[in-house]
Amino acid sequence: RLLRGARKTVASKSKSSARARPSKFGPTLTPADGAGARELPSTPRWLRLAGRFSIQGFNDVSTQASPSQAASTNFDTGELSKFQALASRWWDPESEFKPLHAINPLRLGWIEGLAPLSGQHIVDVGCGGGILAESMARVGGIVTGIDLADRPLKVAELHRLESGVSVQYRRIAAEDLALEEPAAFDIVTCMEMLEHVPDPASTIRACAQLAKPGGWLFFSTINRNPKAFLFAVIGAEYILRLLPRGTHEYDKFIKPSELVGSARTAGLDLVEMKGLTYNPLSQVYTLHPRDVSVNYLVALRKPA
Ligand code: SAH
Repeated sequence: RLLRGARKTVASKSKSSARARPSKFGPTLTPADGAGARELPSTPRWLRLAGRFSIQGFNDVSTQASPSQAASTNFDTGELSKFQALASRWWDPESEFKPLHAINPLRLGWIEGLAPLSGQHIVDVGCGGGILAESMARVGGIVTGIDLADRPLKVAELHRLESGVSVQYRRIAAEDLALEEPAAFDIVTCMEMLEHVPDPASTIRACAQLAKPGGWLFFSTINRNPKAFLFAVIGAEYILRLLPRGTHEYDKFIKPSELVGSARTAGLDLVEMKGLTYNPLSQVYTLHPRDVSVNYLVALRKPA
C-alpha cells in the first residue's frame, strides 16, 4: 500500500488555487483531524503527561543530549501517535492527507514568490512524509526535513528514494537542531505543525535561531475563534460525526496575533500574512489576502 501510494506522486502546479474534493474534515487541514484518527485509541492522559517528562526510549534524541543541553520536551506523544498511525497513507492523494496535497502548490508558489528556493539551504520543521520538503527540493532547494514521528520520516525517506529527489531527513526537534546548527538556514518552513505542539512559542523561537540573519521563515496553522471551532470541532465531530469526539484540540489552535507576537519576541519581522480558504461548492482552495479566519500562513524575516 505504501508503494502504491508512493507512486501516486502529485505533480506540483503553480496556480493560485487548487481543486480538491472536500476532505472529511472540511477546510481544516490538520491530518490529525482525519478519519484515520478514528482508528486510534485515545491516549490516556497519564501517558501523555508521562511523555512530557520521560522521553527515554521514545525519543532517542534525549539520549544524545548533555545535561546542560537537555533535549527538547516540546512534543505531545498523543499528537505524534496520530501521525504515526496515518503514515503509510501520506502520499496517497485520496487519503487523510488530501488537503496537504491540494494546498501544496499554493504554498510552494507563495514561498517561491517571496524567497526563491533554488540553491538555498532550507529546513522544513515538522516535515511529516515530505510533501512540502520534496517539492522545495524539486525546485532546487537544499532541503533538510525534520520531525519527531519516525514512521512519517520513514515514509518520506522511501518516497524520496522512489522519486529521486534529494532531501535529508532527520528525527530531531527544532529546539535541538537549533543548538546543533544555529543560523544555518536561508529559509525555515513550519507548516501545519504548530497546532500540534505543547509550546508553539518555543518552536517559533527555535525556527528563528535556525535562520541565518536575513533569512526567511514561513509558518502556517489554524486560527482559534468561533468559526474555526465550528469547522474543526463541531462540524467534524458532533454534526457529521466523522471523527470521535475529542479528536480536535481546539485549545491548541493559534491566533495570528499570538503567532506574530511570539515571532516578534523571537526577533522576527512580519512580512506577509495570507488566509487559506476552502469553498466546499467549487471544491477550491485559495490563498486569500484577508480572510485568516480558519487557516492562514505567515511570512517573516530575521533582520540581517
Ligand atoms: N509540515 C507537513 C506535515 C504537517 S502534519 C506539511 O504541511 O505537509 C504535522 C507534522 O508535525 C507531523 O508530521 C507530526 O509528526 C509533526 N509534529 C507534531 N509535533 C511535533 C513536534 N513536537 N516536533 C516535530 N514534529 C512534530
